[in-house]
Amino acid sequence: MSLDKEKLLQSLVNGEYPDAQGRYGPFGGRYVPETLVGAFTRLEEGVDKWLNDGNFRDELNTELKNWVGRPTPLTPAPRLGERWGAEVWLKREDLAHTGAHKINNAIGQALLAKRLGAKRIVAETGAGQHGVASAAACARVGLPCEVYMGQIDMARQAPNVDRMQRLGAKVIAVTTGDRTLRAAIDEAMRDWVASPNDTYYLLGSAVGGHPYPYLVRELQSVIGREARQQIIDQSGGLPDVAIACVGGGSNAIGLFHPFIADGKTDLLGVEAGGHGNGLGEHSATVVHGRPGVLHGTYSLLLHDDDGQIQETHSISAGLDYPGVGPEHALLAATGRASYCAVDDQTALLALNECCEAEGILIALETAHAFAGARLYAQEHAGARILIGVSGRGDKDLATLLEHAG
Ligand SMILES: *Cc1c(COP(=O)(O)O)cnc(C)c1O
Repeated sequence: MSLDKEKLLQSLVNGEYPDAQGRYGPFGGRYVPETLVGAFTRLEEGVDKWLNDGNFRDELNTELKNWVGRPTPLTPAPRLGERWGAEVWLKREDLAHTGAHKINNAIGQALLAKRLGAKRIVAETGAGQHGVASAAACARVGLPCEVYMGQIDMARQAPNVDRMQRLGAKVIAVTTGDRTLRAAIDEAMRDWVASPNDTYYLLGSAVGGHPYPYLVRELQSVIGREARQQIIDQSGGLPDVAIACVGGGSNAIGLFHPFIADGKTDLLGVEAGGHGNGLGEHSATVVHGRPGVLHGTYSLLLHDDDGQIQETHSISAGLDYPGVGPEHALLAATGRASYCAVDDQTALLALNECCEAEGILIALETAHAFAGARLYAQEHAGARILIGVSGRGDKDLATLLEHAG
């Protein structure tokens, strides 16, 4: 693959992606079996029709305000700033309804599903966070919701199974394949294919075939749009860097996207370094991955020489995915964003530091972004740092107990 970096960067900054084929330079597109082509085409037409429709935007913005609790605050973090020798600002998605950024996407797609005449919604979930957000959003718009979840994940994340059920969703155990997120996505797609007219598939991150990475980016960009205006208003200018954790990449692309044309603001994505650099020990897809196709999109992923997807590991279940959204692959290839990996222990330390210094219990996923920010501050004394706080850490208390001592 030869890349004309300068040209790709220029197109990226000009906002030309995705192109008409759903591509982000060489990445993205739609690699789906024949049986799914019709469903994807209809979804693309629906997204084109509704996403920028004034009436739909009004309805979405009203729900974001009255039900999700937007705008979320931008919080100065002076005690962290003092420790790090930096000026630190926190964009508080942990304060959004259900405790993380995932609700922005879930309510947006649930409202879209209604406009498209869907009678039911299917979703997949790994750790359960997207399942909970989907269940809540479906209850809100009055559509039945079925969530596919790997059998192994159901055992690991029992409280989230209970939350989904309380919110009215049916949780379907996936006993095929790896019995985790990857198999759950396959099953949700299979369900969608079986009745593409009545069913809407609510995908949880900026991954999958076109138009999902675009749709999710547009719905999550509310994070960056708000944060950009807030930091200008509250600090007097743009940040030197915007930092977010990267699993599939939805909270990061939502924070980064409105800053892409701001050349003086660095973008830093922080992946899960797990407990080592070896096969199966991490889920740092941009840092360690290679190009390939997974779940309908051409992007970076973790696979071996035979194309077999690798097992992944992270202390934070929400970062545990062997692929990443195609726009991140392009941001990395053009150098517009950089990516690093932070290991489990370093993330734990960052979580404790944020609790101590700012009185905020962040999610383990989010803690990776804080650890990345700390490293950035060491190399950029006095920098104005914007961190995307993707979620709150109450869900992680059991994991934290296990790792205490
Ligand atoms: C799911 C999740 C993530 C990772 O997903 P992205 O699509 O990469 O944003 C990060 N933080 C929290 C709190 C999550 O629940």
